[in-house]
Amino acid sequence: MTLSTAMDWRGGLDAGDLSAEVLVRRSLDRIQSLDPTLHAVLTTDADRSLALAQAADRRLQAGERTPVLGLPVVLKDNLNWMGLPTTCGSAVLEGYRSPYDATVVSRLLAAGAIPIAKANMDEFAMGSSGEFSAFSPTRNPWDTTRVPGGSSSGSVVSVAAGYAPLALGSDTGGSVRLPASFCNVTALRPTYGVLSRYGLTAMASSLDVVGPIGASAADVASVLQVMAGRDPLDSTSVELPQVGDLFPLLPADLRGLKIGLPSEYWGEGLEPGTRGVLEAALGELDRLGASPVKIRLPHTRYAIDAYYLICTSEVSSNLSRFDGVRYGSRAERDDLTDMISDTRDRGFGAEAKRRILLGTFCLSRGYYDAFYLKALKARTLITRDFLEAFAQVDLLATPISPGTAFPFGAKTGDPLSMYLADVYTVTTSLAGLPSLSMPAGFSEGLPVGLQLIGPPLSDVRLLAAAHAYQQATSHHLKTPSLPS
Ligand code: GLN
Repeated sequence: MTLSTAMDWRGGLDAGDLSAEVLVRRSLDRIQSLDPTLHAVLTTDADRSLALAQAADRRLQAGERTPVLGLPVVLKDNLNWMGLPTTCGSAVLEGYRSPYDATVVSRLLAAGAIPIAKANMDEFAMGSSGEFSAFSPTRNPWDTTRVPGGSSSGSVVSVAAGYAPLALGSDTGGSVRLPASFCNVTALRPTYGVLSRYGLTAMASSLDVVGPIGASAADVASVLQVMAGRDPLDSTSVELPQVGDLFPLLPADLRGLKIGLPSEYWGEGLEPGTRGVLEAALGELDRLGASPVKIRLPHTRYAIDAYYLICTSEVSSNLSRFDGVRYGSRAERDDLTDMISDTRDRGFGAEAKRRILLGTFCLSRGYYDAFYLKALKARTLITRDFLEAFAQVDLLATPISPGTAFPFGAKTGDPLSMYLADVYTVTTSLAGLPSLSMPAGFSEGLPVGLQLIGPPLSDVRLLAAAHAYQQATSHHLKTPSLPS
């Protein structure tokens, strides 16, 4: 079977052959039949989604068109959708309901997209496998004995399993790109600041971005287009001169494009099957006219250390707000300190606790300079490497992960091996650069993603290059065998 893209559905909606209500009912049915196995979804509100679908149908009938009008979308459960729970995959937020919409959600709603579900995720977006949710771990639809990748596990699986053509996740160190690679969908980590973070629960604020996910680069472009740009409610969001009409996305002319291949990403540690698939994808890019250039990013080796020091430091600060006073669950105790400590002890899972402890240690007096400040210096060097590379090449191509989706439990006992799954993705997070994962083929039946990285604000160019590749190949249209 071929995966239906948002573009396919949109063709039907625009021609009047389909209605938003039919699409939303189809999505809700699919969730009902498949999600008891896949566990990608935490909450739905069928009445609300159907009412939004009817409103979208009225707009379509009146002749209105937007890139997403009438299309179902799934939201990661760290994005606020007013009135619904935002659990962040954590028990500590039990009972909490969002009092407002995230800016990306309100912009999607204004453009007529229809949220149909809040998606499962690793707790507070910490994780690479989807196994650190306080609820059930999400399963990979390509092989349900394997992880889907994290932390945007449910959002990505929702697209891969055809619940919705579009989803939003968040990416701090790879959290849309890694699961996209494991599940054969396309996902973008936009340049830091292109999408507002207002209403996205903060994990590590200097690294967090909202990441659109779709069946194709063109789908990702269509959803990015309606959300991008300055938001007065997020002071780090950027003014984009003209987002421009990304729809339909024109394939980039890859002729003459210089694609840098950093040796640090293509050396040891890459599984042979994954390497074979990725080299074939590079061959296809060559055939489309791009020329490969070998380059060096010499400070890459510090990336995992720098990322996990900066990330945990910011986590220790951001997660201090979950104290039982303001949000979610509370352990009722007579003494205030007992209340806070018991709320946090019972509310947070092991990975959240590990990061809070590590981050608090990094920021403490005497260790701040040795760990946190040093990590910031490494971050500067890593960013500089990239900017120097972009003086020589237009884009970079790298693996997303050293291997394909791994079996459940393979890395949960060893935090370091889990952290190393992000070795190719945390670098662009540190540098704030746009990077995407696109399906490149299969190794032993499991999907492999190729990462494209561009200079700041080259998001559209990156998507256009991926679109050119997808026009010439069909890996992204392959679907796992699930009941239709
Ligand atoms: N796996 C990485 C981590 O655990 C990235 C998570 C993310 O991007 N949210 O920090």
